Amino acid sequence: MFDISRKTKIIATIGPSSENEKIIADLIRAGVNIFRFNMKHNDIKWHRKQIKKVQKIADKLKTPIGIMIDLQGPEIRLKTKNKKNINVKEGMKITLGENTHSNDIAISKNTIFNIVKPGDSIFIDDGIVELKVIDKKGKTITAKVINNGIIKDQKTINIPEKNIDGPSLIKDDLTKLDRLTKSKVDFIALSFCRTKDDIQNLRGELKKRKIEANIVAKIETRESINNIDKIIKSADAIMVARGDLGLEIPIEEIAYWQRLIIEKCRISKKPVIVATQMLHSMTKNPRPTRAEVTDVANAVFNGTDAVMLSEETAAGHYPVKSVTEMAKILEFNEKKIEMVPPIKYQITNSTEFIISSAMSMINQKHNIKIDGIIILTETGYTARAVSSFRPNIKTIAVTDNQKTIEKLTLSYGIVSVKAPFPSGDFCSPEKIDPILKKLKNQGLIQKGEKVIVIHGRQFKKSGLTNTLSLIQIK
Ligand code: PEP
Repeated sequence: MFDISRKTKIIATIGPSSENEKIIADLIRAGVNIFRFNMKHNDIKWHRKQIKKVQKIADKLKTPIGIMIDLQGPEIRLKTKNKKNINVKEGMKITLGENTHSNDIAISKNTIFNIVKPGDSIFIDDGIVELKVIDKKGKTITAKVINNGIIKDQKTINIPEKNIDGPSLIKDDLTKLDRLTKSKVDFIALSFCRTKDDIQNLRGELKKRKIEANIVAKIETRESINNIDKIIKSADAIMVARGDLGLEIPIEEIAYWQRLIIEKCRISKKPVIVATQMLHSMTKNPRPTRAEVTDVANAVFNGTDAVMLSEETAAGHYPVKSVTEMAKILEFNEKKIEMVPPIKYQITNSTEFIISSAMSMINQKHNIKIDGIIILTETGYTARAVSSFRPNIKTIAVTDNQKTIEKLTLSYGIVSVKAPFPSGDFCSPEKIDPILKKLKNQGLIQKGEKVIVIHGRQFKKSGLTNTLSLIQIK
């Protein structure tokens, strides 16, 4: 099943609302390209079982589907006395400390006591309750409650604009990775990634475990924003994780950083995801709000590769409808290609030169209409580089590498097809004929269409793309 009508990729989080086989199949038919497994919820056994299930259904539907593991990372959690809810009222004072014997709330991370100062805000449970620090003595923080609410045991804590030290990968993440070595994993999302070292550290841990997955750095703190260029260079993809980001920095900054990060990622040819609360109201309602629809459209106009659904598909009442609505919004708005800013980058190698020449041919104002672009790719690099220009015509990546097919599920506009590469080192244009025939048989290209084919002189060697041909399909 190939969907060439929509270009922006959809990521859906699996959860109790979507673990059923029929729903997974319907989600794929509705347009999901990648399923996300959030390690914050459920145990590893559950995740392994769901990954297998998704894989089986994707194979049956003959649809390339990526699997993304989202690691929990060093979240800060609270404990309440005897796990009881605390009803808080505006103006009330509460204490936070190391334990609940002498405090109302205990905090899981000790270093917080070194960095919190009077005047700081503390957000609890995704900002449902805000506290303002009025005093700190040793390991006891006294805070004033800013709004009425309920503080529940084990909820998360965010302290805006603070660099919390320690690695992004926690022991529990590593144990989970140990247990995922036999599962199919294409992407690993690194929560609270703050520096390039966090990415290099994860890369080392993946190598040790022989897990061949692309690393998605989640941008959700001020520190990650401050280090954004180095993080983009080091990571394989980026997620604008607006949930935590909207608590860690002033919320009014999100749209600005989203737009800037997308632009930087396109210039670096790295896929980028806009995540969280995209269709949040659909967790309960069958129709999105006008603001949500506009948010999704703006992510497209910013030039994102992918958008992500979280609770909407994991725990909402309308998982499939959320994807259907999402696909409709994407499909309409991505046709307004003039809204997506063009990118400019310095050409530094032959691949980039060939691609920018292909883009000039596609965008020329003469009477030759180019219907599609076909990229022969081993690692997916050339396909990602083409994708970063957001071409407005069908963009087909052909590879003989299954892993590349799955990794390209994240890249804007790319439809990937597995096909054996011609034998021999030297790639002459006629050697491509069997590939074109296969694409025609699959209905991806039609007789009479003019396509640009990009490849290297040597098929299996990456980084050697140097050939561009204009071919009319026979
Ligand atoms: C986010 O914070 O936006 C996010 C995607 O991460 P999580 O859902 O794991 O909090």
